[in-house]
Amino acid sequence: MLDTSNTKKVIDMLRRYSDNREIIVDNINKLDKYTTYLGVCTQTPENIYVYINYSYSENIQEACFVHEILHIILDHEGYPNIAINNLKMRNIKPEFHNTLHYLRYNFASVITHPIVFSREINLFDFNIDEYFEIQVEKKVERFNKRKPKKRSLINEIFLNQQDILVGLDYFSYPTQYKDKIIKIFKEQYPGPHKSCLSLYKKLEFTTPNECYISANKIKKHLIKYAKRKGANKINIFWDALDIVKSVTT
Ligand SMILES: [Zn+2]
Repeated sequence: MLDTSNTKKVIDMLRRYSDNREIIVDNINKLDKYTTYLGVCTQTPENIYVYINYSYSENIQEACFVHEILHIILDHEGYPNIAINNLKMRNIKPEFHNTLHYLRYNFASVITHPIVFSREINLFDFNIDEYFEIQVEKKVERFNKRKPKKRSLINEIFLNQQDILVGLDYFSYPTQYKDKIIKIFKEQYPGPHKSCLSLYKKLEFTTPNECYISANKIKKHLIKYAKRKGANKINIFWDALDIVKSVTT
């Protein structure tokens, strides 16, 4: 594992919550669905698994490790998380359960990223520019991958809901990166951009309670968006995601 002043600092912060679980770091290419991500974290009562994308520089890997541990620290601080509602999951065909897990992960990330990013920027001293340049690059990649295909209305609305959700992340980037990605977002997906912008204005993320309220507003907004477009059927996915106070505490 990368052993730097930043990784040590974030581990010290975690241990303050008496979280003494062993942290196991591995290559993200072991997780089928997430190989294009920068980092992913999973946890059990005994261990914390941090998966890092080894194809990036050590600076990026370090920032990603800090990022994933900060997510767990926020859990300890009582920030909300997203849980799958097992009863409602039964409304969704098993072949789409992976999609539900993916949405859960993205939703949980988005509601805490404003705090995670601001701590990464303010409390650590890795190269933030390189880190956010990669973040923007990944988002642009995501946009570009989508362009050519023709889709059914319902699939298009479902992707738009995800654009709105993920779009909230862009607003927490440092100004120059925020401006760059939001400009592309606006050009390529004007509808979702507009919807995301109007949603973002209603959100606050500073305290755990503000995040909790904001998470509920996001869910409501996404459901309303599909309803208005005549694609209410797709809302079974969002219905199956519960906003919970915290999963580890
Ligand atoms: Zn994250």
